[in-house]
Amino acid sequence: MKIGIDAGGTLIKIAVEDQGQLTFKKQPSTEITEVAAWLAALPDADVALTGGKATYLQSLIPQQAFQSIEFDATFRGIQSFLEQHDIALADYIFANVGTGTSIHFVDGENQLRAGGTGAGGGMIQGLSYLLTGITDFSEVTSRAAAGDREKIDLKVKHIYKGDKTPIPGDLTAANFGNVLHNMHDMTFTADDKLAAVMGVVGETVTTISIHAAREFKTEHVVYIGSSFLGNALLREVVMDYTVLRGFKPYFIENGEFSGAVGTMRLM
Ligand code: ATP
Ligand code: MG
Repeated sequence: MKIGIDAGGTLIKIAVEDQGQLTFKKQPSTEITEVAAWLAALPDADVALTGGKATYLQSLIPQQAFQSIEFDATFRGIQSFLEQHDIALADYIFANVGTGTSIHFVDGENQLRAGGTGAGGGMIQGLSYLLTGITDFSEVTSRAAAGDREKIDLKVKHIYKGDKTPIPGDLTAANFGNVLHNMHDMTFTADDKLAAVMGVVGETVTTISIHAAREFKTEHVVYIGSSFLGNALLREVVMDYTVLRGFKPYFIENGEFSGAVGTMRLM
């Protein structure tokens, strides 16, 4: 049995390969001792680790695990998912929207870190709590999908008020910039605020990703990370914004397990 584990800042992603069958599971990083106890009961498993908490997890388990650098593991995992789905891309940007967001350029067999941003899944969780008091991620995502960003975010067309705009009027001019204009005659529900949170995170991640795509002269952007899980609105914001800016977005099924699968494949 082979086990690949990506122990990240928020979630531990686990890929298990047993008799050719690949299965996935995840657990909060706060439960790392439970993951270690599970591994301790599988002493003969070949274990490969990656992620920010890999070294700590190694200190808790009996196996002498293989360890790889998170960026290389993630790249290897993405390659194997793309192959599996028959998606052939000569070059692309990938954005790993985890607790934080890391952006990379891939050219053939090499990945190069192209940048990052503190806007990501951790920001979704923290800002959602500050604005609404909600901590449950699935509640955050389902309520965000039911919310309305229009009264919170200021678009270019709102500023130009019917005048001809120099850039598409539907582009966001200022995330949260419409609040003071609407505060007297509108109410902002928790759902609306959560929708605006997905807006600012999604647009920030997309903007940085497409700048990297332009810099490295590729048109493909692959988005992965658990922040997209069950998060229809974040996906929609990122997809639409990438297309609007003239690039091609890709979301990979199980993409959040790229690091776990990749470190296993590199072992
Ligand atoms: P990093 O790579 O930055 O160290 P990570 O690998 O833990 O972090 P991911 O697992 O890719 O990051 O994504 C974490 C984000 O996924 C959270 O910040 C949150 O927005 C979202 N998320 C999805 N499902 C859950 C869940 N069940 N519990 C908590 N967060 C979740
Ligand atoms: Mg991660």
